[in-house]
Amino acid sequence: MNTKELDKKYVLPTYARADVEFVSGENARLRDSEGKEYIDFTSGIGVVSVGHANKRVNNAISSQISKITHISNLYNIAPQAKAAQKIVEASGYDMQCFFGNSGAEANEGAIKIARKFGEINGVVKKYKIITLQHSFHGRTITTVKATGQESMHNYFGPFPDGFVYAENIEQVESLLDDHTCAVMIELVQGEGGVQPQDKQAVQGLEKLLKSRGVLLIVDEVQTGAYRTGAFLASQVYGISPDIVTLAKGVGGGVPIGVVMTSLKDVLSAGDHGSTFGGNYLCTAATCEVMDILKEYKESGELEKNIILFNKEVEKLQAKYSEIFTQKVGIGMMCGLRVKDADTLGKIILSARENGVMVLKAGRNTLRFLPPLTITKEEIDEGFTSLNRAISSIS
Ligand SMILES: *Cc1c(COP(=O)(O)O)cnc(C)c1O
Repeated sequence: MNTKELDKKYVLPTYARADVEFVSGENARLRDSEGKEYIDFTSGIGVVSVGHANKRVNNAISSQISKITHISNLYNIAPQAKAAQKIVEASGYDMQCFFGNSGAEANEGAIKIARKFGEINGVVKKYKIITLQHSFHGRTITTVKATGQESMHNYFGPFPDGFVYAENIEQVESLLDDHTCAVMIELVQGEGGVQPQDKQAVQGLEKLLKSRGVLLIVDEVQTGAYRTGAFLASQVYGISPDIVTLAKGVGGGVPIGVVMTSLKDVLSAGDHGSTFGGNYLCTAATCEVMDILKEYKESGELEKNIILFNKEVEKLQAKYSEIFTQKVGIGMMCGLRVKDADTLGKIILSARENGVMVLKAGRNTLRFLPPLTITKEEIDEGFTSLNRAISSIS
């Protein structure tokens, strides 16, 4: 049986898979099982931040796993401690980290910290968490309930209590009550449609929550790891959250989730844990990814690349203004609103046929999440293919 047949027979059908199998890559280039080449504007949904088959990351992983891959969090783990240092220093916040394996697990950790904080600090038990409509926070029972999309709440109940959804940041104030322990937001909603929040509104929210003793959790699973131009989008927005979560791009392809917080003494030994979280394999990779991206940012290359990439997105929008109604996003997390969902589907399919991979977000947003290290040649080639793809359908 080939991969497709094996998958159909043995893997649960939770994904509507596209009929393509990638077998290798290099930076923003991909090759499929039939030898066809593509430019990757998806980076595995923002994961492969430093490009496919990154030699430095691969060397860091192989040199680590030739010594030890896993022990357990019962013992000291050097690359875990170093990864935490690199992450905290890059953030500029006075925080500590906990390591898990995914974005959802990072958000679970954030929710546990906020709830324990609310339980030990309030006169009454504070447990409610306000999230936003169109948000996305994960697929576990708790994080799917934290996700402000009703369509994801079919079937799996009863859910944990205490999640409240605000239409937007402005509406949060009216939903705060004595039982609210935290507000959790994405600064740029990724899955919801590459929708950035307004900077003033976010800063206003931060002030409001501080004055009410309610925690601010920023879900940076997609926006983190330099995706928006700074290590955290929270830095771009000029705020100091109480809790930040990371995953996707911070591992460059290894599964890792991080919850970091300035509330260093809320959780004590035994309150939380993870068997795999922060093991040698994934934190050795994360240390190298952090070093690569820090150098990339400090050299000015990241900023140059962001400008270059966004110019091409703007050109595409101008050229096909009858299809694209608006450009959205920040940095290397950008998108184009498409006039209707049907056209978007056609563009994504035609793009793949023409050798460039792009994503959908929300109902009608064409989403770009290229590797941050994408080269000018790869950008040019990708947009040439995308132009060809769009002109072939319009
Ligand atoms: C992808 C994503 C998650 C979920 O991450 P997983 O690793 O799939 O659990 C959570 N929040 C945001 C903002 C995301 O983009």
